[in-house]
Amino acid sequence: MSEDDKHKIIIKIDSQADNLWAISNQLFHEPETAFKEFKASQILSEYLSQFGFNVELGIGGLETAFKATCGEHQKPVIAILAEYDALVGLGHACGHNLIAASAVGAGIALAALGSELKGQVQIIGTPAEEGGGGKIILAKAGMFISVDAAMMFHPADRNMVLRQSLASSRLKVEFFGKASHAAAAPEDGINALDAMILTFNNINALRQTFILKDRVAGVILEGGQAANIIPAYTCAEFSIRSLTASRRDYLVEKAISCAQSAAMAVGCRVEYHVTPGYKEIIPNKVLAALFTKNLESLGRTVMIPDLNERMGSTDMGDISHIVPSIHPYLAIAPEKTAGHTLEFKEYCASDAGKSAMLDAAKALAMTTVDIFDNPDLLTKASDELNEELKTKAV
Ligand SMILES: [Zn+2]
Ligand SMILES: [Zn+2]
Repeated sequence: MSEDDKHKIIIKIDSQADNLWAISNQLFHEPETAFKEFKASQILSEYLSQFGFNVELGIGGLETAFKATCGEHQKPVIAILAEYDALVGLGHACGHNLIAASAVGAGIALAALGSELKGQVQIIGTPAEEGGGGKIILAKAGMFISVDAAMMFHPADRNMVLRQSLASSRLKVEFFGKASHAAAAPEDGINALDAMILTFNNINALRQTFILKDRVAGVILEGGQAANIIPAYTCAEFSIRSLTASRRDYLVEKAISCAQSAAMAVGCRVEYHVTPGYKEIIPNKVLAALFTKNLESLGRTVMIPDLNERMGSTDMGDISHIVPSIHPYLAIAPEKTAGHTLEFKEYCASDAGKSAMLDAAKALAMTTVDIFDNPDLLTKASDELNEELKTKAV
């Protein structure tokens, strides 16, 4: 990228810093949860349309999703993704307000390059990352078919471009037994709670076979009505994660067999339902190298994470299996500050949050220009993804 373009991007984003910060804070103070992000999607898409973006609000069957497009060229297409959903009960404790502001910030800086922009930029507003899988719904609706690469940033406790995420799934287990008087006639009952307790114990027995980052966490949602009645119905939900989608699927199967064998032991009926979650992120190294260089040029030190790193899950994982993608993290909080906490939430409206949001906007825009300047990089990025997918399929 020419120094001139880089300079223009930095100037543009700095000139809009107060407006971007106001958008971030507005989202922060009026948090909207999954699929209900009506104000946020409106604010973000209106802002982009002021800078010449062609905006479609309500795409892929999702009212609160949007696509904003700019650039005189049709190809290549770089998508910068904006998340803006908050956590139920906690508000913006994952910093999606900062993600949204950085995405539109990058967008307006790229739009300002006008005819110098050698490709198309799409800012895609992706609702419901916290559990609803908005990006997966948009991908199924074909929103990423024409996209050549996708990027976004996420706030964290350190600057990490190559950090991975876990593949996730939800498993709901229900046991149907038979109620009876717990003192007078327990022998007539079929205890659905015993089946549930056995399921948890079976899963705990499996833990000795777990490998790095295998996670099975469960809660009993219904465990019975009263101690003097043999429980006829129990229900639990499990969150199952691992480093790869195939390993996650294996763990889901094992957890199901734990429930089935418990049902057999007790003699009750079991039903289960698997909700497919998110795939693991495949961070694209070609794109990551560009982003890292740009982020370092803005004065940030980037650390290389290993597999022992704390990880969550994101629907960006699924996108990274479709198009070359990066999901870099920028520090807004001191090391070891976990997301989804009140402590992290404070940083999402702090000066450190503002600085990360602005640096992310700049690095996303600069990386987009790098790719437009050298489209061969996209072939390399896509070859890399195909190789990764081939390795995972084995
Ligand atoms: Zn989150
Ligand atoms: Zn998040």
